[in-house]
Amino acid sequence: MRETVERGHSETEIGLTDNGSGTVRRYLITSGQIDLSDGPGVLGIGVDVTEARRVEKQLKESDERFRTIFTSVSDGILLRDFDSGAILEANQSVCDMFGYTLAEILAIDSSVLSSGIAPYTGDEMQRRFAVARTGDSQTFEWHSRTKDGRVFFTEITLRKVVFGDRDYLLSTLDDISERKQNEERILQLARLDTLTGLPNRAVFAVSVQQAIARARRGGRGFAVLYLDLDHFKDINDTLGHPVGDALLKLVAERLKTNVRQMDTVARFGGDEFAILETDIGEPTDAGLLAGKILAALAAPFHIDGNEIRSGASIGIAVYGADSPDAEPLLSNADVALYRAKSEGRGTYRFFTDAMDAEVRSRVSLGNDLRAAIGTPQLFLDYQPQVESATGRIVGVEALARWRHPKRGIISPGEFIPAAEKNGLIVALGHWVLWEACRQAAEWRAAGIAPGIMAVNLSALQFKTPQELENDVIAALAATGLPAHMLELEITESVLMGASQSHNDVLVQLREMGVRLAIDDFGTGYSSLDYLRRFPMDRMKIAQEFVLHLGAESGSAAVVKATIGLAHELGIDLIAEGVETEEQLRLIESWGCREVQGYYFARPMSPQTLEPLLRAGIIVPAARKVVPAA
Ligand code: C2E
Ligand code: CA
Ligand code: CA
Repeated sequence: MRETVERGHSETEIGLTDNGSGTVRRYLITSGQIDLSDGPGVLGIGVDVTEARRVEKQLKESDERFRTIFTSVSDGILLRDFDSGAILEANQSVCDMFGYTLAEILAIDSSVLSSGIAPYTGDEMQRRFAVARTGDSQTFEWHSRTKDGRVFFTEITLRKVVFGDRDYLLSTLDDISERKQNEERILQLARLDTLTGLPNRAVFAVSVQQAIARARRGGRGFAVLYLDLDHFKDINDTLGHPVGDALLKLVAERLKTNVRQMDTVARFGGDEFAILETDIGEPTDAGLLAGKILAALAAPFHIDGNEIRSGASIGIAVYGADSPDAEPLLSNADVALYRAKSEGRGTYRFFTDAMDAEVRSRVSLGNDLRAAIGTPQLFLDYQPQVESATGRIVGVEALARWRHPKRGIISPGEFIPAAEKNGLIVALGHWVLWEACRQAAEWRAAGIAPGIMAVNLSALQFKTPQELENDVIAALAATGLPAHMLELEITESVLMGASQSHNDVLVQLREMGVRLAIDDFGTGYSSLDYLRRFPMDRMKIAQEFVLHLGAESGSAAVVKATIGLAHELGIDLIAEGVETEEQLRLIESWGCREVQGYYFARPMSPQTLEPLLRAGIIVPAARKVVPAA
């Protein structure tokens, strides 16, 4: 009241507790001086503002909430005045996107926010504003520009909003540079080379990434092969581009037919191709594919009456050995290709020298072997199998020998695995079977044949069991050798992996009288279940057990157990690798009566063996000192 008296009026807000309900109500009291008949007075009018204050507080909170959202959303938001085009509000994301401070944004001419490159100009944006003002909100992609001049992709939505009786323009902006990049990438990925229909470099790179991911998860390795035609430019220049294009198409075809389904063949442009060979067992396997492809491309192409020869060069990089990452792997393949080209073309090179040398020797061995089959380079030695008590020769095992023109005698331990790797083993095995049967029949005609001619079979010959059976039948028929004189030596691994068709073939062969022996018994698998499933005539105790008989009690236990097992099953038994009198005594004492080993005789040529066969017995050198009874 004093203030009212001093200043003529006053305004104050007070809270009064309602006695009945106990709630506080707020009153705005406005007072002024008035003249009363007996002098000046004060008139106060109290208005209940409780409800008004509550609404105000709510509005303030709601405003704060919106402001928080406005500033923290990742989309950029701009509010403009339609009439002036001026920016009234901008959130933090806009500032971040464009690199301006809020104060700068509010002050600039907004046309600088567009790239300015047609059609992304300030004028065009004004036109869109006008459309938005009619109530048609719109969303479109735009080239925006940052404060430091960088242009980036945005997606903008323009919408008219009305506050009070004024129209405003609300624009939201989304930085879509990343999405654009991905779209671009996908487009690129989908792009195949139009000439050959092969995937392009981008697709190839993704395949390599996937192969790396698989390998890291514990999958098998892979290799990248870069290929380049050797004389493509000459062909293009002399015969013309249409012929060049036709050649590239044919090359693509040959490449595709020479890789497996899961491998990727790509064209990088020009006469450059790349192959992703997945799921390789050994790094050097890629050399086999490279050799195969070079051979395929060496054959002439016929285009428009031209016979065209275009060799190729290949560079190989192997995952892990050469690099665990995609980029270096690809450039390593490129380096290897460069070397292949500079070192004479028509060839392939690995990125690493060691691998190069290893593959080269193995592959050349394979090629040499192919040429050797059917020539005197390849021949059979025979090792006698002897009844140890009497020295009587009961059989012989045919063992393949190879006299390499440059490298001398190569052991079957080396060339059989090589033959298995490149598929030559089937041809080799066929030759061995026929030659052994022929030799046995010849000895039989001369009246000096041992009871058994044993022939080794590779697991790979069992891949086509029916062909194997036919081959055996044909060899016996052609040579006239009685079936019971032929024994086929099979390893445990073959029997373990055997299917019903293998089973049928084994049963049929045996019904014909052909003998079956388990070679290297005890080295393969621990399960003996196959002994129940497959009919066998003989078990051969592996030489590695015999070799360690004196030194290792474990070997003795295995040999003894094997002998017991054979007796139980009623199967014949022979011990391999018997070299000493001591080994022989032990084995004999455990009940094994037949042996094959250096103690009695080494593998030898048919000529050397013939006198022994004529005599029918072998007296080992060590026993010769004992005077005959
Ligand atoms: P295998 O079938 O176990 O043949 C026995 C091997 O032991 C032969 O080696 C033989 O020379 C050797 N050997 C025999 N007695 C003794 C001995 O007292 N001491 C020692 N240390 N070794 C003895 P070889 O001829 O080098 O053959 C090695 C392997 O090559 C053979 O092992 C067989 O798995 C394979 N092989 C040989 N010829 C053929 C064939 O024509 N076809 C197939 N698929 N494999 C063959
Ligand atoms: Ca054998
Ligand atoms: Ca053996």
